[in-house]
Formats: sequence, structure tokens, C-alpha cells
Amino acid sequence: MTSLAFDYERPATVAAAMDLLAEPGSIVLAGGQSLVPLLNRRAVTPKRVVDITRISELREIALDGDVLRIGAAVRLAEIEKSPVLKHFPLLAEVIASTASPPIRNRATLVGNLVRANAMSELTVACVALDASLVIGSQTATRSVPAGAFFLGHHASAVGAGEIVLRVELPRSSAAFVGSTFSEISNRAGAPPIVCVAVCLDVDRGCLITAARIVAGGIAARPMRCLKTEAALVGKPCADAAQYVVAEDIPPAAELHNASYAADVLPVVIKRAVTRACAGIKP
Ligand SMILES: Cc1cc2nc3c(=O)[nH]c(=O)nc-3n(C[C@H](O)[C@H](O)[C@H](O)COP(=O)(O)OP(=O)(O)OC[C@H]3O[C@@H](n4cnc5c(N)ncnc54)[C@H](O)[C@@H]3O)c2cc1C
Repeated sequence: MTSLAFDYERPATVAAAMDLLAEPGSIVLAGGQSLVPLLNRRAVTPKRVVDITRISELREIALDGDVLRIGAAVRLAEIEKSPVLKHFPLLAEVIASTASPPIRNRATLVGNLVRANAMSELTVACVALDASLVIGSQTATRSVPAGAFFLGHHASAVGAGEIVLRVELPRSSAAFVGSTFSEISNRAGAPPIVCVAVCLDVDRGCLITAARIVAGGIAARPMRCLKTEAALVGKPCADAAQYVVAEDIPPAAELHNASYAADVLPVVIKRAVTRACAGIKP
């Protein structure tokens, strides 16, 4: 099957892209790794496709003070090669385990987040890293925390006529930070069945002072593991995994492996917490 006919536009500026997207039936094209198959299957039938990949304002990746800004046209492979990534080891680890190098050469981080696949490692990592997405339109610009951006499986907070301009990731101000990622998948490069991202702040005595633990593959969107986060605060890194508790995350009916993912979640959290603690060097 091939796509239905549509108009193709490749604007040079964000303002021009916003003007084009204000017309009903217009849709953004970034790396095309999700959108092109959807067009070919006629699962989406836009009147106009707005290719944002040549907009220089959206191609920037920069550490501005303690905030990493990644523009909407920056591809995953470009993020992997950026020197600023050394300050965000969790993001580096997760990008390296997402899809395959040919896909990462085309796909953008923002495109992955807007697609909002419930099994995406990147959505889970961005919630754990307390990222925000900056969304613009002809009329307004707003910033949405990643925790509020994902509304369901393939549903995000981006509305008609809007474009995500960039994702912003704060660098932790904690003295010692451990972060890592753990997943179960059928094969390397495939989307995970279940995945967990962990960020721990630790004091000089190696006691955990804050925890952000996020699970993907169970609910229709990334979920904070709030019970374990609370249980870990004040506990020593050395044996933190023993304080992991059962979470109460209902499996989403539309996700094929969600019940299995819920069953194995405590094991995956324990692995991730153990690895995160092992990486902390006070
Ligand atoms: C073989 C294969 C393996 C894969 N494996 C994985 C995996 O292991 N883990 C994983 O998470 N993903 C995986 N993916 C999915 C892939 O990561 C996503 O398709 C990709 O990241 C989407 O980004 P893109 O830049 O290609 O977006 P596009 O396909 O161009 O767009 C995706 C959607 O987002 C919208 N969009 C894009 N950018 C914007 C923007 N700036 N503002 C508003 N809307 C926007 C588009 O309109 C479209 O609806 C895989 C894909 C393939 C083909």
C-alpha cells in the first residue's frame, strides 16, 4: 500500500512552519521513522506534511547553564555524538539501546516523545530526568513537564496546529547522582517489553536523599514507581535493592505484554537500583 496524496512543505523557519501547521489537516514530519509507515498504511491521511528537518533553529543541541536543550530536528545519532551527553549518562545509555544505528540516524528524540509509544525507553528516561517539552503555535508557547506530556499509548499533549520546539533536561544539582536503565526485550534494538529508569540523589554518607524511578510497558504511559521512591529515601546505597516494594500500576488492556511486564517489574527495578547504586562514586 502507498500513502494517499498530500502536499509536502519544507519551511526554513519556525514561524513559517507554524503558519503551515495552523492550516487544518497539517502534520509535522521529523525523522519519519514512525510517520512514513503510518502514511503508507493510510493510518494517517494528512492534507499537508510539514518537514521540519531543515529548520536551523530546531537543529541545536546545547547545554545552557544547567539545562540541556535539544531541538526538535536533532536526530538521536547526533545526540549520541554530542560532547554534552557526558553530563547525562542515563540519556546516553537509553539512546544507545533504542532501535538500531540506521533508525537512530534518522529518528529524532522529540519525534519519539510525540509518538508517545508506551514501550519507548526514551519517554521513560525523560520522565525520570524531569524533562520538559516546549510546545509552540502561531498564538502561544508553553512548557509541559514530561510527566504531564504523555497522555496514553500514542497520545501526547501536542494539539492541532502545535509543534514541539525542543526538549529541555535539567542537570541534577545533587552532589552525587546515580542513574541507570534496565529493560527486558525480545532482542537487541527492539522496543522493550518492560523498562525502568532510575535516578538517585545520594548524600556524603551514601544515604539516598531522593529517588525518581519510572516504569514503561505496563500502563499506557510512563509511570512513576512512587511506593519504591518513598521507600528508598534515607536508605543506604549498599543494600538499597532490598527496599524495593511492589507497585500498584494497573496493566493497560491495549498493551499485549502489560500483565507480564507488571509481574516482572519488581525484578527490573531491583536490577536498576543495584546498578545505579554501584555507579555512585562519593
Ligand atoms: C525498526 C524500528 C525499530 C524501532 N525501535 C524502537 C525502540 O527500540 N524504542 C523506541 O522507543 N522506538 C523505536 N522505534 C520508533 C522510533 O524510535 C520512532 O519512530 C522515532 O523515534 C520517531 O521519531 P521521528 O523523528 O522519526 O518522528 P516522525 O516519524 O517523523 O514523527 C512521529 C510522530 O510525531 C510527530 N512529530 C514529530 N516531531 C514533531 C514535533 N516537533 N512537533 C509535533 N509533532 C511532531 C509526527 O507528526 C508523527 O505523528 C523503532 C522504529 C523502527 C522503524
